[in-house]
Amino acid sequence: MKVLIVGGGGREHALAWKCAAAARVSEVLVAPGNAGTAREPKVRNVEVAAEDLAALVDLARNERIDLTIIGPEAPLVTGVVDAFSAQGLKCFGPSQAAAQLEGSKAFAKEFLRRHGIPTAQSRTFTSASFDAAWVSRQRAPLVVKASGLASGKGVVIASSAAEALGAAQAMFAGQFGAAGREVVIEEFLPGEEASFIVMADGTHVLPLATSQDHKRLRDGDQGPNTGGMGAYSPAPVVTPALHARIMREVIEPAIRGLSADGMPYTGFLYAGLMIAPDGTPNVLEFNCRLGDPETQPMLMRLASDLTVLCEAALAGQLDTVSAQWDRRAALGVVIAAEGYPEAVRTGDVITGLERAAALPGKIFHAGTRLAGSEVLTSGGRVLCAVGLGEGVAAAQRNAYALASAVHWRGMQFRHDIGHRALSRELPPRD
Ligand code: AMP
Repeated sequence: MKVLIVGGGGREHALAWKCAAAARVSEVLVAPGNAGTAREPKVRNVEVAAEDLAALVDLARNERIDLTIIGPEAPLVTGVVDAFSAQGLKCFGPSQAAAQLEGSKAFAKEFLRRHGIPTAQSRTFTSASFDAAWVSRQRAPLVVKASGLASGKGVVIASSAAEALGAAQAMFAGQFGAAGREVVIEEFLPGEEASFIVMADGTHVLPLATSQDHKRLRDGDQGPNTGGMGAYSPAPVVTPALHARIMREVIEPAIRGLSADGMPYTGFLYAGLMIAPDGTPNVLEFNCRLGDPETQPMLMRLASDLTVLCEAALAGQLDTVSAQWDRRAALGVVIAAEGYPEAVRTGDVITGLERAAALPGKIFHAGTRLAGSEVLTSGGRVLCAVGLGEGVAAAQRNAYALASAVHWRGMQFRHDIGHRALSRELPPRD
């Protein structure tokens, strides 16, 4: 069978690598891919942008693709699955209607409220309906969110009502373009964050291995928010009891609710959660796709054939399959370019990839491109070095051995990925 992966980041490299590993898969195409996918056995890059829906449909038809898996949110939100389905092409992901869960935070909040799923109290405003007096009356801190897609940048934690007012006005004034036309203002929730990712087929749900990412740029969870500087799987914060609670209070009502609302959800569904001190799993956001970098360590642990799981989901038969996981831990360290996340320097030559290839674990590429025989940096997050090990500490050692094997000018990475899991793994100190 032939598989098409849409996207060009680390998540898509991991998806392509995983699908290519299946014996029944003859070839994986990646649109547009990166230097890592270009060099992967059985994988071929095609120069089609992930947002060009018409070109993607043509590609799938001309290449007789049997299964397409969408990596990033943008094509899902603009309706890539609807475009494929209209041509009878199998494409794993939610419809445009269901993808509004990520495409519009205003929609998601209204959905959560309607279906009684725990989430922060909030109000949604446009510049016309904005109620500054209401904002001033709220207790700080407040969280101000651009409703539309803003590449993870459209969230401001305001420590005063005045700061919240300023953040909302900046969003209305176009700071995040059309994404800020509607603004959600919500209460700040204390607790520990966790991500929970499942596959859904409209009715049934298959939970994937748990994972946790690190959003801040610098060690000790300091510095600006990023797309994610590392992740590990499993995430010990999600205990079996919490797992059951998230399924019961968040995932199952969400899938039932989407179905009841006439937009059954097929695809990966990612719930970003804040676990309150009393254990309540509050939904911070939904993503309609896999996380990046959570996918890289997660897929390193997946022992099952991902294409079989996706096909079962597309047939509405997720209840007939199960996913097997390597019981070892996997941990991924993102290596970013100089200046990330603000002013990214690109075009630097990456060395040491051959040395790294001889070590255990795997380096997934994100912002890279081939130039002759050289691999150059071409984006903010450049590589993700993933180690496996008996426990988080061993996985961490292997991941950092990989990261230390590569080099380019200005490369940066965190040195403490997995610190929360490690503090749970170690016996308590007195
Ligand atoms: P989001 O894109 O909505 O997940 O928000 C990005 C990040 O902002 C989250 O990962 C949290 O760290 C933080 N955040 C968002 N909403 C809240 C909230 N209501 N209370 C506390 N932190 C939040």
